[in-house]
Amino acid sequence: MKASEVGFSRNEAGHATLGGTSLSELISTADVGTPAYFYDLSAMKKRVKKMRSAFGNAPHLIAYAIKANSAGSIVRAITEAGAGIDAVSGGELQLARKLNVAPRKIVLSGVAKRDEEIELAIGEDILALQAESVEELQRIRQIAKKLNKIARVSLRINPSVQIDSHAHIATGHDAAKFGIAKSDLPEAYDFLKREQSSLRLVGLSTHVGSMLKSPDAYIKSAKVVCDAARLVRSQGRPLEYVDFGGGFGIDYGDDPAEPPQNFAQAAVQLLREQELGDLTLVVEPGRSLVGSYGVLVASVLQSKKSGNRRWVMIDAGMNDLLRPALYQATHRIEPLGATPGELVHRVVGPVCESTDDFGEHALGEIPEQVVIRDAGAYAFTMASEYNGRPLPAEVFVADGKVQHVNPSPGIKAWLQHRLRA
Ligand code: PLP
Repeated sequence: MKASEVGFSRNEAGHATLGGTSLSELISTADVGTPAYFYDLSAMKKRVKKMRSAFGNAPHLIAYAIKANSAGSIVRAITEAGAGIDAVSGGELQLARKLNVAPRKIVLSGVAKRDEEIELAIGEDILALQAESVEELQRIRQIAKKLNKIARVSLRINPSVQIDSHAHIATGHDAAKFGIAKSDLPEAYDFLKREQSSLRLVGLSTHVGSMLKSPDAYIKSAKVVCDAARLVRSQGRPLEYVDFGGGFGIDYGDDPAEPPQNFAQAAVQLLREQELGDLTLVVEPGRSLVGSYGVLVASVLQSKKSGNRRWVMIDAGMNDLLRPALYQATHRIEPLGATPGELVHRVVGPVCESTDDFGEHALGEIPEQVVIRDAGAYAFTMASEYNGRPLPAEVFVADGKVQHVNPSPGIKAWLQHRLRA
């Protein structure tokens, strides 16, 4: 495999590389300070293409969960490789449309949609609004009536399936706020039948949660959708698609996950077994398309020894990368210019919160700069300006070269908008 297929790697001298080019070189070409995100667009594109090929000739749509990383360059790379979009807000939907994603390749998910988001989705005539309750169907119907349009909808089913993942990223169990409980589906079907002049049921969907290591729970929840699809069809109602959601895990260094192709193949096989192979199979991967192909580069600001602990303070904090504070997630942190050493340090950010802590890492000699790996998903999109810290820069790399730089807005911009408030 070529280095550009794997995002982060190391060259013979032990220097960290992205897309086959040393990160030090990319930093100096991009002319950015730290903290800065670097993304390998070529690797992301390859990932999409590889996943698409796993569907064979099955009709399918990879609806990239744009919440994972909404950078225009990344969305362009992924959709140019053939994917559509799973949006969860009017903003994400508008972004997809501005990047020329075809309406029928976009679904709008989300547990609570604003009226104007529903209006936008109906107006754009996207593949479907994925409704999460009977009450939401009632609102969609009202808005469709006002617009004198028929809204294309799917029902997001809560499959009542537990997954072996952090509680904050499990979405398909009974206590989760997401989706329509199986017991409420008959009411939803009845409502849709009565309101056919304003609502068209085109799909059934689910999303069981994130960071799945193997397809087991995915297929278990997909079966719930298949049961519902067979029932709907037996009532003589046509469907266009089933959507089994995203959630394919990646390896953050401690626990490998099966590749997304395995999930796609298992899903195709299930649909055929269930005699639903003529329906379009929609999947909603986010993390697995981008997570492994981004890194966050930070500089060491300070180190200290207190008692037996060795601390290293870097200039990236929980405002730049929230996952460790939010989910107790671990990201590998390594020196930029040398392979990891033996000596372990506790790496923390500068934010005034005890949760601004990236854990223990074998850095060896204290380096000037570090790379935080696997930071392509749920990283920049969750960043904030907490503690008066401007958003980090983003550098987009294609074929090992800097293609585009989105500089940090900087401290002046932060001062201006806070003074304006
Ligand atoms: N679809 C829905 C409805 C989601 O809520 C999410 C993540 O939260 C995803 C897809 C993408 O999940 P992942 O990034 O784990 O593939």
